[in-house]
Amino acid sequence: MKFLCLILLIALSVSVFSPAFSEEESSLYVRKIENLPDDFIFGMDASCVVALEDSGVKYYDFDGNEEDVFKVLADNGITHIRVRIWNHPYDMAGRGYGGGNNDIEKAVKIGRRATKYGMKLIANFHYSDFWADPGKQMVPIAWAGMEIEEKTEALYNYTRECLLMLKDAGVDVGMVQVGNETNGKMCGEKTWFNIQYLMQAGARATREIFPDALVALHFANPEKADSYATYAKKMDYYKVDYDVFATSYYPFWHGTLENLSNVLTDVANTYGKKVMVMETSYAYTAHDTDFYGNTISDGGAIVKSYPFTVQGQANNIVDVTNTIVNYTPSGIGVVYWEGTWISVGTNSWEENNEKWETYGSGWATSYAKTYDANDAGKYYGGNAVDNQAMFDENGRPLESLKVFKLMREGNKIAPVADALEDVNLICDLNAPLSLPETVNAVMTDNSKKALPVTWNLTDEMDKTMHAAGPNQYVVDGIAGGMTAKAYVSMIEYNYLTDYSFEEGGKSWVFTDLKNADELYIEDKKTDSLTGTKHAHFWSAQKNSVEFTLEQTLDTLTAGKYALTASIMGGDAGKTEIYAYVKIDGDIVAAAPMSITSYGNWDTAKTDSFLYEGGESVTVGVYVKCEGAGNGAWGKIDDMMLNSVK
Ligand code: CA
Repeated sequence: MKFLCLILLIALSVSVFSPAFSEEESSLYVRKIENLPDDFIFGMDASCVVALEDSGVKYYDFDGNEEDVFKVLADNGITHIRVRIWNHPYDMAGRGYGGGNNDIEKAVKIGRRATKYGMKLIANFHYSDFWADPGKQMVPIAWAGMEIEEKTEALYNYTRECLLMLKDAGVDVGMVQVGNETNGKMCGEKTWFNIQYLMQAGARATREIFPDALVALHFANPEKADSYATYAKKMDYYKVDYDVFATSYYPFWHGTLENLSNVLTDVANTYGKKVMVMETSYAYTAHDTDFYGNTISDGGAIVKSYPFTVQGQANNIVDVTNTIVNYTPSGIGVVYWEGTWISVGTNSWEENNEKWETYGSGWATSYAKTYDANDAGKYYGGNAVDNQAMFDENGRPLESLKVFKLMREGNKIAPVADALEDVNLICDLNAPLSLPETVNAVMTDNSKKALPVTWNLTDEMDKTMHAAGPNQYVVDGIAGGMTAKAYVSMIEYNYLTDYSFEEGGKSWVFTDLKNADELYIEDKKTDSLTGTKHAHFWSAQKNSVEFTLEQTLDTLTAGKYALTASIMGGDAGKTEIYAYVKIDGDIVAAAPMSITSYGNWDTAKTDSFLYEGGESVTVGVYVKCEGAGNGAWGKIDDMMLNSVK
């Protein structure tokens, strides 16, 4: 956050010297990127274009005229086209695996068109018959079973032949990527010792055929501590010949821009390498347009740094570019993945499915199961990133496509509200629901502004939400003419911290009143009521178990509450066990508990008690066991302090 604020301040401080409007009018808010080199690489992965066109997709320019998408890209500041190359993405019957069916022939077609409009090609060799990423780096079928020497030779020859085909076709190859997201695996190899031979072979072929092209290695997950330093060190140790250390950066998964800058800066400074973002993207909408679910949509455990709007998509590109240009030495470019991959149709899943299967325009076809049975073979279908494209479902360019050119001079129009931040609330079923009076609008410059909101919450809805038990609700509202959403979880709220000991039990205190052998928080799922941890006790000697397990609350609002606790155990003999609540040292509520045998949890709930304020509230369990046989033992779990009506 601090980092982003700094970027914003710098941008604001120079705005005085920038023209207020660019020559080309646009509704897109874009701040000027200072120090942006003339030869900075703005790349677009366009791997699926041919398969999409085969499926009937048409692209348009900003005037609404049908146009070669490569011309549209070039006209809007794209300098490089990236294309993935799979060795042989076809089954025995010649049916494509999908994802564009991108073999070298496709790369030649795409490369020629890129060259025609003055753009260079980034040839992205996966060295696999289908998708290669950190999760899978499968060897091409034709190379299966090869020892590393033979595989190295095969990879060298293959790369050489492919590059010669591109050269013969007159394609202007600016960069060759040797492997895709090779985080310690590549082409079926799993040791850096073997991988480095393969990387060397790809680099050697590139130097021979395109001596002026840059050799890039590509990694993913910059957020994993020290991983990039390790990869770069390995490359250095093995003296792998490369120019560019490239990374994927998806802001919803891959950590902060500050971290991205740090890890790339470290590589650039330590090893004298160029660095770049080889893949980034952002969703312009939460909606799916092709009847095949998307990897990024509302909900899910992702970081949402920008709203899912056209402006949000542009803001990601601006921030990533600024990070690479101004906060990362030797930063040479940013490539978007894959802005031209749009829906093949908006009529029906059946109609689209036929196109995906026939032309390979979805991410995988059913035929891919012959190669990748566990992933593609199960989940094959359409486009999972159509909401991250820079063209809409009808092939019209989004305003965000103008961002690449606009970053040079900026388009600092007055920021306006672009979207509303969602409100997320947890409400106790027994407490009133209070919705906020304002919601944050995310402005087009990604700043926040509080707007008054009117919620559509009737008394009847409120009553139902409190009466229906634990449940999730969405309450709509209106703020600044836009629809606000409050996601409300009605729950039986537990006022205790670390109620199930999953956080390690630091909020809990064992007090040994005799001399038990073992009193601690144990991590053992099979002995826990929920989660994996619980409070454990055991002692071999008779009459050695007597203890309390307590938590003292910092704050509690006045009201009626009840305590629930669960216990199980064995070999206890005669016992005295109870859950209790103390206010200022006096027990105000208690519930007896008993131990029988393994797996038989006894859950006890105290009567409700009234808390009107006081110095302290302590909840706990008192356990005293005479012990029998091998000594008393037991487990305590899931302590709940809930409010009561
Ligand atoms: Ca989709």
